[in-house]
Amino acid sequence: MTSGARILDGKATAALVRADVAAGSARLLLASRTPGLAVILVGDDPASHVYVKNKDKAAHEAGFLVRTLRLPGNASQGDVEALVDAQNEDAAIHGILVQLPLPKGLDADRVIQRIDPAKDVDGLTATSVALLAMGRPGMRPCTPAGCIELLDRHGLDLAAREVVVLGRSMLVGKPFALLALERNATVTIAHSRTADLAGVCRRADVLVAAVGRPRLVQGDWVKPGATVLDVGINRMPDGSLAGDVDFQAASARAAWITPVPGGIGPMTIAMLLANTLHSAERAAAPAAALQR
Ligand code: NAP
Repeated sequence: MTSGARILDGKATAALVRADVAAGSARLLLASRTPGLAVILVGDDPASHVYVKNKDKAAHEAGFLVRTLRLPGNASQGDVEALVDAQNEDAAIHGILVQLPLPKGLDADRVIQRIDPAKDVDGLTATSVALLAMGRPGMRPCTPAGCIELLDRHGLDLAAREVVVLGRSMLVGKPFALLALERNATVTIAHSRTADLAGVCRRADVLVAAVGRPRLVQGDWVKPGATVLDVGINRMPDGSLAGDVDFQAASARAAWITPVPGGIGPMTIAMLLANTLHSAERAAAPAAALQR
């Protein structure tokens, strides 16, 4: 199948965001401040280890202080919460990320809600969610914020567009829908109980797939000329990665499409760095709190 779509290159765009963050970090350093990021990793999930390694590397490259804190898989709820509490209290730390999923038996939501909202660079605490829903400045979750940043940096405006979000998780689907509403899109959220998923998707000027089902979205689900953001990361039996969209078939109809890998994944890391920088800037100058 020939590819007609232009690629929304998340890797290249993330490099631009990261360069901006590194410049911001260098400016803070002039005032003897260094953005500090604590990453908490519990257990030995191999994918989580890869994600944490990538975040650690990116944060170092941006000139951040990075503290990767590992706990064994049999750590107790109290152990994990105590680690979060210690980072909350540490003035050198401006962002706290708890790598999900946590091992079975741990209550991830309780851990997340323990994070000081001012350091909630993943945008998952109840405070951050409420601020997003109210349209007030606050920490935005990294993956949906990365989707918006990618669109912005390609001049793709959401105003008055029909946006269909596949998936309603707190991590991606719901916050993306709210961010798209903020941008004046007309938003539909689809999920596993949606009737006529293909028909709903065909209405989309902008289709965002965040489902976790390899190649669920078929080529003929894509409206000709649509923009397709594929958030899905699915490990295939042969070890390769696949998105939630049939990339080849969708490319023949879409105007713009993100690849997997190299699409939303790198943008997610870039937005984590951006959130941490903003948090550090706010801590350095609370009176001039940034409007984000
Ligand atoms: P999740 O919490 O498992 O949510 C999946 C959503 O998809 C749910 O709302 C579910 O509907 C819906 N769904 C599942 N099967 C469906 C089907 N057959 N038809 C329609 N909807 C269906 O997943 P998530 O955390 O949002 O992540 C989604 C994907 O994005 C995963 O592949 C994940 O690895 C990837 N991801 C990537 C990044 C990145 O940086 N690129 C970041 C986060 C996540 P119900 O609510 O009805 O169950």
